[in-house]
Amino acid sequence: MKFETIKRVILAAIMLPFVFMLIEGVVVIRSSLRQYRDLEKDRQFADVLARGGSIAATEILSEIGATRLYLARPDSATAADMQQSRVTLDRERLAFYATLPSRDALDQGLAGELSILSLAYSRIVAARNAVDQGLYAGSDPGSIYWYAALKQLAVVDALSPLISDPVLLEKSNQLMGILLTYYGERLITGVGTRYLDHRVSARFPVELFVQGKVMLGEGMDHMVFHSTAPIVRDIIAYLGRRDQVKANAITDSILAGSQPTREVRDVWATAQSERMIFLQQKMVEAAKDIHETGENLSTRAHIHLTLILGLCAGLLLLATLVMVLAARGLRLIDRLTRDRETLVSELRNAAQTDLLTGLYNRRGFEVAASALLTQAEHGSRWISVVLFDLDHFKKVNDINGHDAGDAVLRQVAGVARQNFRSFDLLVRHGGEEFLALLPDSTPDDAAIIAERVRLAIEAAEISLESGDILKVTASFGCAGRANEAANRNFEDLVKRADLALYAAKASGRNCVVSGPIVQTPTQEERRKKAGGGFDART
Ligand code: GH3
Ligand code: MG
Ligand code: MG
Repeated sequence: MKFETIKRVILAAIMLPFVFMLIEGVVVIRSSLRQYRDLEKDRQFADVLARGGSIAATEILSEIGATRLYLARPDSATAADMQQSRVTLDRERLAFYATLPSRDALDQGLAGELSILSLAYSRIVAARNAVDQGLYAGSDPGSIYWYAALKQLAVVDALSPLISDPVLLEKSNQLMGILLTYYGERLITGVGTRYLDHRVSARFPVELFVQGKVMLGEGMDHMVFHSTAPIVRDIIAYLGRRDQVKANAITDSILAGSQPTREVRDVWATAQSERMIFLQQKMVEAAKDIHETGENLSTRAHIHLTLILGLCAGLLLLATLVMVLAARGLRLIDRLTRDRETLVSELRNAAQTDLLTGLYNRRGFEVAASALLTQAEHGSRWISVVLFDLDHFKKVNDINGHDAGDAVLRQVAGVARQNFRSFDLLVRHGGEEFLALLPDSTPDDAAIIAERVRLAIEAAEISLESGDILKVTASFGCAGRANEAANRNFEDLVKRADLALYAAKASGRNCVVSGPIVQTPTQEERRKKAGGGFDART
């Protein structure tokens, strides 16, 4: 497998799981963020619920009571109490509005209920002014407060569908149930008390009584639905007490139009007032419970946020780690690729080069010569070879040792390389014999170049490791012919150069001998030869 492919495979192996992890991480973070937003929203709703419930359960009722007392007995003490109850209600109202989520988090139903509630509060403010100016002497502003309280209940009720936390939802239903029960009881008690106070002269207000009964029923429905909650069990147990059951029976008889005795009436009034004090306590408890649930939600939201941040940080760390690993992997692959290329080129050189002289060996020479001849086909007409051999080299070895012989071979190769032309191919042909292929050179050119090299070798002072200087000579044989595409083989030339070299050795050494010029046979002649025809020159 190619290194590039391996690189891609490794990259894919590192990056693919990482990309999947990243996608998964983004999905988890998104869902966690959504959960966080839900928790945060529910926490806000818990605040609104707790405050709204508490206002309906306590502050509005306190102000009704204090205002009625003031109207019945207007003195400085009742006026101070009334003022105090107004301040408390206003403070709680402001706190309630401050806990409301932003407008876009509210649904249309809740936003509508809130507008009606604002209107109901402005009617309370108007009623307060009228009370202060004495306009309510002899009458009761209770219905205005009652209306505001009902609207406060409607807001609490409208919050339920927006809550997603199941615990908070359950608690909001409980609170709503207790509030409705309380207000139903209060309506029934108020209407019943007034009716019994006025006795026969009064017309029994059936509608209000029925409204109270309906609220009571709704409240009980809300609570019975959550009958497992301890607070609901308390209320059901309380309402199941003997005096409470008896009071219910008296309420039914009043509704049926009977006029109970004073004694029965007192039993009923006591039971009803105790029941309302009990329910009011439970309302406060439920509102407090919701507030605490909100705190828990807030803690959970914070834990969630911390988790999300941790997750983001972890993911970022992982991403960095993967990047670093990928970068390291790639660097390693690059280094391996480079090492491999270096190794391959070293091996190739080693296979084609003579290790002692650094010249081509025969194999390398064949490859290079073939490339050179292909190139030369297009441009040159002539090709020549020069074969040269060191004279009496055996003696050099014998006298100076084999290592000195090696040094001679190395330095003679260097001299030859410098004195042939840069494009001539030089090969260590064997032992102390060298061959040069001279492209684009006539036999005369080759002889001139060979003579130059011969003189350079003769002049060279070869230094040995021992410090001695040695002088050597070489004999040269040259041969050349016209270059042509059909004949890439130059063995014939080498043979003729060898003959010339032999002649040089024979004629006393340290000289250059050129072989005879041989005309390359024409195509016609070659055809005849192949067909068995006689050729005079062969
Ligand atoms: P001539 O002038 O006729 O060529 O005589 P010569 O002594 O050079 O030729 P001969 O063929 O008798 O001896 C060649 C010697 O070259 C024999 C061999 O030991 C030596 N030789 C061949 N290859 C190497 C080599 O790689 N290193 C060394 N040191 N000597 C080598
Ligand atoms: Mg020799
Ligand atoms: Mg030889």
